[in-house]
Amino acid sequence: MKAAVVTDFGKPLEIQELPTPEPGPGQVLVKMEASGLCHTDIHAAHGDWPVKPRPPFIPGHEGIGPVTAVGAGVSTDLIGKRVAVPWLGSSCGTCRYCVSGWETLCEAQVNSGYSVDGCYAEYAVASAGAVVRVPDGVTSFDAAPLTCAGVTTYKAIKVARVVPAERVAVFGIGGLGHLALQYARLVGGLVTAVDLEPDKLGLAHRLGADQIVNARTHDPVEEIRKAGGADVAVVLAAAPKAFEQAYRSLNRGGRLVMVALPADDAAINVPIFETVLGGISVIGSIVGTRQDLTEVFALHAAGRTQVIAETRRLDEVNDSFDEVLGGRAEARLVFEF
Ligand SMILES: [Zn+2]
Ligand SMILES: [Zn+2]
Repeated sequence: MKAAVVTDFGKPLEIQELPTPEPGPGQVLVKMEASGLCHTDIHAAHGDWPVKPRPPFIPGHEGIGPVTAVGAGVSTDLIGKRVAVPWLGSSCGTCRYCVSGWETLCEAQVNSGYSVDGCYAEYAVASAGAVVRVPDGVTSFDAAPLTCAGVTTYKAIKVARVVPAERVAVFGIGGLGHLALQYARLVGGLVTAVDLEPDKLGLAHRLGADQIVNARTHDPVEEIRKAGGADVAVVLAAAPKAFEQAYRSLNRGGRLVMVALPADDAAINVPIFETVLGGISVIGSIVGTRQDLTEVFALHAAGRTQVIAETRRLDEVNDSFDEVLGGRAEARLVFEF
């Protein structure tokens, strides 16, 4: 099979011909139809974060396609069914997080395209317990971005407990942001979209954002305050400055939801006095569970969300990374096979 392989941190990915993997016990083999490019894949390939993958490895955790083979102990009923291979490659199933619907916090989890090979390949093996069925009403092309960008922002809106007429500021429009703003609107939020790129703000406008702020030309804190302040601020932009601005745009009772992961082990200054008196919550939100992804697919199948993405070929992977890093991709890029 053809695969895009990270051979060393910071080096261009290599397209290699590799043996098609065999599903082990409890695993399925998935024939990729679509595989999304998430910014995390670039961080993985660069070894940007404190916990690093080990090259050589195949990135990718937005992989969609039919199951073509199953390993020992897996029902053959799954063969031919389309599934999504998400970031959560497997979890222990028995710890306090796994048994309480928070498998995304399992300390024994493995991650697709990071600690195990992922979806930038014609085939991938995945844990049968971790994949999520893709309903007929969702194309593989749309399902790919929903599998990380979708579920991650859906979860962020859920943990923020947005209620109708609250203002939700979304910092960073693009692969994640264009979906975050749709989920915020679905639960009745008034959305402020903040970005540096006019194209992305145009996209936010088309998708129904109530307020648009270009953070290159205007101070987002001031603009959001003029509109009454944010009750929720979701940070999807990896610049620490965006986190500070998001915090300062909050009303009393506000919730800051941190989603983006800056390259360095960055920190922001949280003023204790204002946080206590203002009843401010600071929440970290990491991807979403299998149930969250099932809900994301159900909403999409019902026509409630739109995925904005462009197709690329797997051998364009290095140019695609440059497009994302240069802010030139409008939203998501998806490799189609
Ligand atoms: Zn991702
Ligand atoms: Zn666990």
